[in-house]
Amino acid sequence: MSTRENYPEIREAVAKLCSQFPGEYWRKLDDTDTYPTEFVQALTEAGFLSVLIPEQYGGSGLPIAAGCVVLEEIQRSGCNGGACHAQMYTMGTLLRHGNEEQKNKYLPSIADGSLRLQAFGVTEPTSGTDTTRIRTRAERDGDDYIINGQKVFISRTEHSDLMVLLVRTTPREECKKPSDGMSVFLVDIRDAVGNGLTINPIKVMINHSTTELFFDNLRVPAANRIGEEGKGFKYILDGMNAERILIASECVGDARFFVERASAYACEREVFGRPIGQNQGVQFPIARAHVETEAAALMVHNAARLFDEGKPCGSEANMCKMVASESAWHAADTCLQTYGGFGYTQEYDIERKFRETRLYQTAPISTNLILSHVAVHELGMPKSF
Ligand SMILES: Cc1cc2nc3c(=O)[nH]c(=O)nc-3n(C[C@H](O)[C@H](O)[C@H](O)COP(=O)(O)OP(=O)(O)OC[C@H]3O[C@@H](n4cnc5c(N)ncnc54)[C@H](O)[C@@H]3O)c2cc1C
Repeated sequence: MSTRENYPEIREAVAKLCSQFPGEYWRKLDDTDTYPTEFVQALTEAGFLSVLIPEQYGGSGLPIAAGCVVLEEIQRSGCNGGACHAQMYTMGTLLRHGNEEQKNKYLPSIADGSLRLQAFGVTEPTSGTDTTRIRTRAERDGDDYIINGQKVFISRTEHSDLMVLLVRTTPREECKKPSDGMSVFLVDIRDAVGNGLTINPIKVMINHSTTELFFDNLRVPAANRIGEEGKGFKYILDGMNAERILIASECVGDARFFVERASAYACEREVFGRPIGQNQGVQFPIARAHVETEAAALMVHNAARLFDEGKPCGSEANMCKMVASESAWHAADTCLQTYGGFGYTQEYDIERKFRETRLYQTAPISTNLILSHVAVHELGMPKSF
């Protein structure tokens, strides 16, 4: 089966929904850095953001391959799933490591969309990619923990009710391993703002609702700790494979958007009395972008299959995210070049998608860190850090 053919009914339904949110909708939001509330609401009501939540908690209980199809089709249609993709997978930490009480309390409302869990707080200004050096600290005080510290680039906090937050509960120096001593909390943002949590928006080159967070003696009930104290890093890592596979499928969707737009434009734009796509100098880069996209799609397909079979897939998830984000970027560059000057105008949506797709070589993990993982864990070379 081609990588474009699985879950045809989901593909068709997502494409139909997205057709109600054309380029002009996104351009207006982009101009004013406004969150796509109506789009996210429509996806929520249609049940597309709860496909991975088990049926017993009110979701559709579908495999990750189905989630991939949803996000791929969103991107392929020119929309931006970055506004809400985390609602699909952030709940995985709660699902895998939360206790029954927490799952029964939160998952049904996350599934029906009345509770938004789409903020995920890991990155800090001083630690960067070196997560074990995070400094945000939670200290036990009776039935609560008191949190102090700072996070940066935490997306969608202004459009989320809950946040999965990684903090240190034991200083790094006192731990056997640097990755010990971190814990995960489910923070209720609605209670926290004004009571120890301050959220400041960060303006970036895309409309991504990302923010900086300051924690000043924020009290969080111990009942909101997910899993055991000190094991948080492992819980976060467990969720990363799903995140990478899903984001890789968004990149495949972006790449398909660019390849389809570029080939259509190359057929219709006439210069020197013939379509520009008749020149091999124009058609070969588009054909190459298509080949790279299909290779990436196969890698995403394979990683999703391993994930759904419950097999180890850390390297496959990382590798497919790297190849997919690069194929999307090459397709974006090729599409911009194919459109000539018109690619730079806002009305064709190429420049917007070009900016948006660049993110995935940096977040949620940058390409160098993936190469380092592959070098060490697949090829047995010494770790550099
Ligand atoms: C728009 C946006 C949204 C984001 N949303 C979230 C979010 O919701 N939640 C969240 O927790 N984070 C979020 N992030 C943060 C994102 O995950 C990080 O930016 C990313 O992981 C890279 O970390 P850094 O920016 O600290 O880069 P740094 O760690 O400072 O690295 C800078 C560069 O140096 C390279 N580098 C660093 N160390 C090495 C090494 N040892 N070897 C080779 N190269 C190295 C990196 O690959 C990178 O290219 C977001 C970021 C952006 C831009």
